[in-house]
Amino acid sequence: MDFESYDVLVVGGGLAGIRAAIAAVDANPRLKIAMVSKVYPMRSHTVSAEGGAAAALRPEDSYENHAFDTIKGADYLADQDVVEAFVREAPIEVIQMEHWGCPWSRDPDGKISARPFGGMTTWRTCFAADKTGFHMLHTVFQTSLKYSQIHRHDEAFATKLLVEDSRCVGVVAIDMRSGRVQAITAKSVILATGGLGRVYAFTTNGNICTGDGMALAYRAGVGLKDMEMVQFHPTGLPFTGILITEAVRGEGGYLLNKDGERFLKRYIPNKMELGPRDIISRAMVTEFEAGRGFEGPHGKYMHLDVRHLGEDKIDAKLPFMRELGREFVGIDIVKDPIPVRPVMHYMMGGVDADISGATPIAGLYAAGECANVGLNGGNRLGSNSLSECLVFGAAAGRAAAERASSVGPVGANPVTALLADETRRIRSSFLDKKGGEERIGTIREEMQHDMDAGAGVFRTREGLEKLTRQLGALRDRFEKIKIEDSSRTFNTELTAALELDFMLEVSETIAYSALAREESRGAHARRDFPERDDAKWLKHTLAFRTDRAEPRLEYADVRITNFKPQARTY
Ligand SMILES: Cc1cc2nc3c(=O)[nH]c(=O)nc-3n(C[C@H](O)[C@H](O)[C@H](O)COP(=O)(O)OP(=O)(O)OC[C@H]3O[C@@H](n4cnc5c(N)ncnc54)[C@H](O)[C@@H]3O)c2cc1C
Repeated sequence: MDFESYDVLVVGGGLAGIRAAIAAVDANPRLKIAMVSKVYPMRSHTVSAEGGAAAALRPEDSYENHAFDTIKGADYLADQDVVEAFVREAPIEVIQMEHWGCPWSRDPDGKISARPFGGMTTWRTCFAADKTGFHMLHTVFQTSLKYSQIHRHDEAFATKLLVEDSRCVGVVAIDMRSGRVQAITAKSVILATGGLGRVYAFTTNGNICTGDGMALAYRAGVGLKDMEMVQFHPTGLPFTGILITEAVRGEGGYLLNKDGERFLKRYIPNKMELGPRDIISRAMVTEFEAGRGFEGPHGKYMHLDVRHLGEDKIDAKLPFMRELGREFVGIDIVKDPIPVRPVMHYMMGGVDADISGATPIAGLYAAGECANVGLNGGNRLGSNSLSECLVFGAAAGRAAAERASSVGPVGANPVTALLADETRRIRSSFLDKKGGEERIGTIREEMQHDMDAGAGVFRTREGLEKLTRQLGALRDRFEKIKIEDSSRTFNTELTAALELDFMLEVSETIAYSALAREESRGAHARRDFPERDDAKWLKHTLAFRTDRAEPRLEYADVRITNFKPQARTY
């Protein structure tokens, strides 16, 4: 049987994954690290992050302010000890990136620049023009190349976690170039597989954001935490869903309805365009419903106007936005307003993990967008995520290294049998399956449209119940899919089927978790329960997989330290 052994295995080559791999080697240079990624690492979704990374670096800022903004932004569903640790580590990580060569934009005195971002009381979003993710990912990727201890498995698709006696000992992965199904074992495994935006039709997320790691952990018995908390970003381009970064508003852009009015004055008068994403997205949908949006071929939209900023500022701070306007809308944002509408953007929920990334399964860690360490609660503040990938990627790397330095090697015994089982499953459920008539693309599109309709910016019991039925029916139809491509090399039909399988699973956790939470908090806005209800619902949802369609839901306390929940007004 075919398997390679390592000390630490990182699944994911995005910002969290690479940061974790570097931290693991730094913690113990004798360790052998594997990094598995279904795409070449530089194609991970991190590359498309635009706006910046938050860190309290400036004298006028403080850890306390950053913590308070994050906790209030989260609508008090964040674990406050985690937030307090995060805000202290974030500046250290941003400076570490500086030392590794990240080309941060700078003030005239040479200091790292900051820009204002939604829901923040002060300027703390560090940036590299409006291609921050690209530069950060390049920085960690190139840094990782100097470590001979990090062995890359690019274009390898993880299909299953190897778990034996409640201990995670690796993954099964398909090497996409050869089609070979192999076991990659390790004493510690870190999931850093990113988000799941593609379960929605209208999303900013890249095609590869299909929730794989969340589904892998869920199948292995780990709870998925707060999956009802899905972030909608106010400013996506209609049709493509391409993101227009919050930095556009940070730099002074206005949101206007069809009457040319800065309508946010009715909803969030003290913050206006610098309000948090959940509140602005709801304000936009409310305006649409009142007939004050523009009507276009791809639905209703608003204008995001930067014309008053002037060409020089736009070219210096938002050059990529000008390029996007030109390429994807056919406008020059120096002269024309940008059409925008709310778009699914980010997943606050994810694999239940503690402050060091440890999950309840021994040897299994999670970091980055696929994890929920308790930082983002009901609503993530823009620019906290890139910093989260650094801080908690590094923490998971260190914790995984520590474990790998002390436990014994993984034996061949369980692995051989588990690999044989998984190879059989891939053959019988997908490659050698006969007689199916359902198409993967059709099921995927229906799922995405059902998710948009049932679990969008506003939710109701009726809509969510309908969604659970729709997802159940799609799951039944998925059993009858047909795969026409039997080739071994880059069989993207097979990986699309595996991804759809993961997506159907995580969608169900979103729908059932949202149906159960009978209140409105952060991004979870129930029309039938419009108020936040701390007495009943100041708690995390945990969804566990069962043999039935429905997950089992459990609840866990939110850890409160210094910030008592108050009304969330801006
Ligand atoms: C358009 C856009 C702009 C954004 N802008 C900002 C911003 O300005 N500031 C901010 O803080 N946040 C921003 N975000 C959010 C932030 O970029 C992401 O949350 C973060 O980059 C996620 O990083 P990650 O390392 O967790 O995952 P990703 O970068 O998504 O990487 C996931 C990795 O997992 C691998 N993988 C997944 N499944 C498998 C599998 N089955 N087998 C093997 N490998 C697998 C992939 O190949 C990839 O390498 C933005 C997000 C988007 C979509």
